Amino acid sequence: MKVRTRFAPSPTGPLHMGNARTALFSWLFARKERGDFIVRVEDTDKERSRPEWEKDVLSNLEWLGLDWNEGPAGAEDKGSSGPYRQSQRTGIYKEYLERLLSEKKAYWCFCTQDELEAQRQDQASRGETPRYSGRCKTLSQEEQKQNKKAGNSAVIRFVVEPKKVVFKDLIRGEVVFDMALSGDIVIAKDLKTPLYNFTVVVDDYLMRITHVIRGEDHISNTPKQLLLQGALGFPQNIQYAHLPLILGPDKTKLSKRHGDNSVTRFKKQGYLPEAIVNFLALLGWNPGDEREIFSLQGLVKEFSLDRVQKGNAVFNLRRLEWINGYYLRRMDKKALARMAVPYLKEAGLLEQNGNGEEQKFSLKIQKSQPYTIQETGEGIDLEFLAGIVGLYQERLKKLSELVELADFFFKKELNYEEELLSWKGMGEQEIRESLQKVKELLSGILEGEWNKERIEQVLMKEAETMGDKGKLLWPLRAALTGKEASAGPFEVAFVLGKEKTLSRIEQAISKVQ
Ligand code: GLU
Repeated sequence: MKVRTRFAPSPTGPLHMGNARTALFSWLFARKERGDFIVRVEDTDKERSRPEWEKDVLSNLEWLGLDWNEGPAGAEDKGSSGPYRQSQRTGIYKEYLERLLSEKKAYWCFCTQDELEAQRQDQASRGETPRYSGRCKTLSQEEQKQNKKAGNSAVIRFVVEPKKVVFKDLIRGEVVFDMALSGDIVIAKDLKTPLYNFTVVVDDYLMRITHVIRGEDHISNTPKQLLLQGALGFPQNIQYAHLPLILGPDKTKLSKRHGDNSVTRFKKQGYLPEAIVNFLALLGWNPGDEREIFSLQGLVKEFSLDRVQKGNAVFNLRRLEWINGYYLRRMDKKALARMAVPYLKEAGLLEQNGNGEEQKFSLKIQKSQPYTIQETGEGIDLEFLAGIVGLYQERLKKLSELVELADFFFKKELNYEEELLSWKGMGEQEIRESLQKVKELLSGILEGEWNKERIEQVLMKEAETMGDKGKLLWPLRAALTGKEASAGPFEVAFVLGKEKTLSRIEQAISKVQ
């Protein structure tokens, strides 16, 4: 039988990392087994479901590379077991609800919230586990009619057999639930408003799902779903795999309390999809050896449910950063530069200038410089950006960091205190002399020879005569960057270009007049 797995998000919020992990494991298993991966949108909660969340979930799945064989595709569907939005399947559920009602496997319950609360308190006072008493199960047809006529609101309850339900979980082994402790469960608010446990059972059956892979928080739903399958006459041949919980750094279940864990947020911060997928795969699965880097295709080869751990997995941001850094280092500089554009734009570093003209780039490169001018459609010089990005590529953990590291390249004027120019207590005069010397030396370099090696050679020769090299190099670096820490002065000067380098040195000299 062809393997068919599904990811069944409720669009009541954005796709978060935990759900993305569930989707990834279901996807990996399907791909590994050459089966189908189905996406089903569980939007029965009309109040909390929103189209924008569905969009967020689906677009992030796509961004991560988790494609689906069947599921929503724009406003339409692809696949022959749809519709794949539960809100469009009401008619299907109604038939099955009616069947359960007519076979007395489900019944209308008219108990009010107050009555239910009183039942609960009564049970609690006797030391019993609170559960529905079954009061409405024995209502006669006549009593039901009267209740309906009186306009009493009702829900549909499923008769839960008070027996032990045993199933074999592919990760946890044999799992036993004593359903005597459950009471009859609500499966629909009315014929048009079925609830989660019921819709899942109908859909998993009609969509011919073979493996349900989902978070451990759903494990107590499984016995209810198995009983419903039995009552509906569906074969009970779905295999279940409940994935370990993901914990935050404080070892409690990962949730909003730990901050925004949406995939969109990580994407905005400049984490690459390859890195997120790689990281998520290791949240509960391991290859059995020390390897930590896996592409999506590599994972398809290696993945197996046998290697999914039972114990909880801890969300370690350092690890995600490390993995992201790995992928960033391997990227082509220009591609990385292109990816950096939105971050720089958002930080206002690539915006229009005050004159309303397109500033293109606050730093224009001369034709004679090693980077050829290459304007992109957006008026951005990619070669120049690649030069900047290249300075930081080795140590970047995420693209958004670039803004803070490299903002000085883009600014017209640097804002820093005069003291920044001083190396080990140098006074104004000493700083001025140092900067003037540097200016003189750099002015002597021909445009065509403006490269890192030449700059270094010229400056080091002088610096070595000064005993303490910092006396020459620190004021220069501070003048070029306005920062306490940055990339080294030779590479910064090279990327800035001769004109801008000299003008920044002049600005600095004017500070120490
Ligand atoms: N809609 C459920 C959720 O988002 C899916 C649970 C399941 O996979 O059965 O948690």
